[in-house]
Amino acid sequence: MIRYIVILVFLLSGCASTTLKTDSEVDRNQFLLLPNYMALSMAEDAYRQEIKNAEDNNDLNVNEEQVLRIKKIAFRLIDQVHVFRDDASDWNWEVNVQKSEEVNAYCMPGGKIMVYSGIIEKTDATDDELAAMIGHEIAHALREHGRERMSTAFVQQVGLIGFAAYLSGKDGNRLSKEVALQAAALGATLFFALPNSREQEREADKIGLELAARAGYNPMAAVSLWRKMDALSDAKIPEFLSTHPSNENRIEDIAKDARKINYLYIENKKTNQITK
Ligand SMILES: [Zn+2]
Repeated sequence: MIRYIVILVFLLSGCASTTLKTDSEVDRNQFLLLPNYMALSMAEDAYRQEIKNAEDNNDLNVNEEQVLRIKKIAFRLIDQVHVFRDDASDWNWEVNVQKSEEVNAYCMPGGKIMVYSGIIEKTDATDDELAAMIGHEIAHALREHGRERMSTAFVQQVGLIGFAAYLSGKDGNRLSKEVALQAAALGATLFFALPNSREQEREADKIGLELAARAGYNPMAAVSLWRKMDALSDAKIPEFLSTHPSNENRIEDIAKDARKINYLYIENKKTNQITK
């Protein structure tokens, strides 16, 4: 009986939109079976591991100028996350830069951002373009796309009943330490291995544009950024582009959405210029 109640509770909690409906009009109901605290603890562990690896290789935040630039842009975007959800300003946001040839950037659940130097240097990105990229990654976290992907994968792997049993464990719905550890390892794998769906990419594009515009960055820069990324894909760039397939249709959609949201940029540009 308790298992069915658990399933029911998760199903009910799973049918909602994680963000408020804003100017970019994203309000899809989401499949979120995995409890948020689990997604967050998995993300925290995975991020700490990435930080440690980078530190061990002397690759963490080595270029001071680059780090300052990325942090300044990221925190200007983070200043606007409250528009999309009430709790997001209180997240424990972290922004780091990893020295790497890889063209990659991500924002894990709970606001753990990593930008690789490869993506900054190989695209020779402007501040507006970096804001477009980081805004897109933050949007994935605000929408809890990672948690959504993990939920789908868990259910596919163990089935709904098994999943509920897995969560409920021996004593109600608290995880045993061992199970939690296994889950953290699995979570890290899932976060990095599973691509976002096309729908999720579309949402991250829209919210990313709005976030950038609200922070006073030109949303049209998303178009030039993705064109640069597209050009790079000829030179065989793996991770980021395999999860962010860029094509003419997508770029056209981004251009259309950027024009639609441009009024927010015009409104916010002045405020930011004064306070900059
Ligand atoms: Zn994406």
